[in-house]
Amino acid sequence: MQSFLKISPDSHFPIQNIPFGIFTKLNDNKPRAASRIGDHVIDLSMLEKKGYLKEFIPEEADEVFSGKSLNKFMGLGKSVTSDVRKRIQTLLRDDCDEIKEKESFLKKLLIPIEDCRMLLPVEIGDYTDFYSSKEHATNVGIMFRGKENALMPNWLHLPVAYHGRASSIVVSGTDVTRPKGQTKADDEDLPKFGPSKLLDFELEMGFFIGQGNDLGKAVPVKKAQDHIFGFVLVNDWSARDIQKWEYVPLGPFLAKNFATSISPWIVTLEALEPFKVERQKQDPKPLPYLKSSGEWHYDINLEVSIRCAGTNDFIPISKSNFKHLYWDICQQLAHHTVTGCNLRTGDLLASGTISGPSSDSFGSLLELTWKGTQPLNLASGETRRFLVDGDTLKITGWCQGKSYKIGFGEVTGKILPTN
Ligand code: MN
Repeated sequence: MQSFLKISPDSHFPIQNIPFGIFTKLNDNKPRAASRIGDHVIDLSMLEKKGYLKEFIPEEADEVFSGKSLNKFMGLGKSVTSDVRKRIQTLLRDDCDEIKEKESFLKKLLIPIEDCRMLLPVEIGDYTDFYSSKEHATNVGIMFRGKENALMPNWLHLPVAYHGRASSIVVSGTDVTRPKGQTKADDEDLPKFGPSKLLDFELEMGFFIGQGNDLGKAVPVKKAQDHIFGFVLVNDWSARDIQKWEYVPLGPFLAKNFATSISPWIVTLEALEPFKVERQKQDPKPLPYLKSSGEWHYDINLEVSIRCAGTNDFIPISKSNFKHLYWDICQQLAHHTVTGCNLRTGDLLASGTISGPSSDSFGSLLELTWKGTQPLNLASGETRRFLVDGDTLKITGWCQGKSYKIGFGEVTGKILPTN
C-alpha cells in the first residue's frame, strides 16, 4: 500500500498507520480531530464536512471530528471507527482516483506538522495503572522486600493495578513541576516536608476505551478487544521518596498524582495487527475468567532518552519492548470489569512500567540506578541517579515492518523546579 505523498521509510506515520489525535493550527486555536501522514496533519473535521466520510459515520452522529476530544468518535464502537480509518487510508492511496484534484485537496486538508499544536486527544474520565511487567515487579520487590518476597503472592494470579488520577494527565511537551510532599529517611524517626528528591519516570503504554460496558455487565476476555480503541505512550512520573513513605497499605497516592504524560497520537489496534506476537506462557495457569488466547500482545520497540539540564542532545538510557509484559490487554480489561465495573469511552488503562530482562532494558531510574546506588554515567559526562530540574525525558515507540514503521511519535516532559 502506497500513498500519493512521498513518505520516508523512517517515518512513524506512513499510510499503514492512520492514527487519531486533536490539534489546533498555531494561528487559529480551534481544536479539532486529525490524523497524520508523514509530516502532515490531516484535518478530519474538514474531511467530514466535505462529505467524504458520509456513508461511514451514522447520520445521527454527525460532526464527530469537530470537537475538542475524540470521545464522540471513539464511542461509536469498532465497527464504525475501524471503517472510518480504512476510508481515510483509501483516500490517501496513490491508486484512489476519487479525489480528482489532489492538489487542491492537499492544500486544504493537509497542514505541515510544524504549523500545528497537538492537544490532549481524549477527555479522560478514569485512569487505571496496571503493574503487569514481571521484571519490573520483581526488581521493585527485591529492592523493597528482598529476593525471597520479591513478587507478592497474588501477582501471578491477577493483573495488579491501582486507580490513578485522570485530571493531571497531560499531553507530550507539557512541563512537569517537581512535587512537594512528605518523606521519611530510614535513619530518622519523623517525616519531613519539601520538594521530592527522588523524581523518576516510568516507561509505559496505555490503551483507550472505545465503546464502554454497562454497569453490572463484565466484559469476557474474548470480547475485550472490541472495547479497545488504541494505544499511546505513557510516562507515569513518580516521586519515589514520597511513594516509599505513603504507599503502605493502600498503594500509590500523591507520589503519582501530580502528572502523567501521554503521546498525542492514538495508534489503533487495527494498525498494530501485523505486529501481534504471542504472550509469554503463564505459570500458574490463570483462573478461567482470565484465560486468553495470548495472541493480543504486540512487538513494540520502546526507547527512553534524557536531555540533561543545560545540554542539547538526548542520550538513550533504556531500550525495552511492549512484548515483555506478562499480562495482556484483554486479561487486564476482563479483570477490570469482572466485578461489573463499567469502563467508559475515553478511560485510560496503562500497562505499568515495562522493564525487560536485561539491566539496559529497565523502565525507570529506580531500576536503572538500583535505587540510586549505581548512578548512570552518560556519554555526555553527566551522571544521574534521579531527575534534576531542567532535565527533559523522552519516550518513543514503534513497530518495525518490512519497509515501513508504525510509530507512536514521542512523549516528552521537562522538569521544572518546585514553585
Ligand atoms: Mn506506573
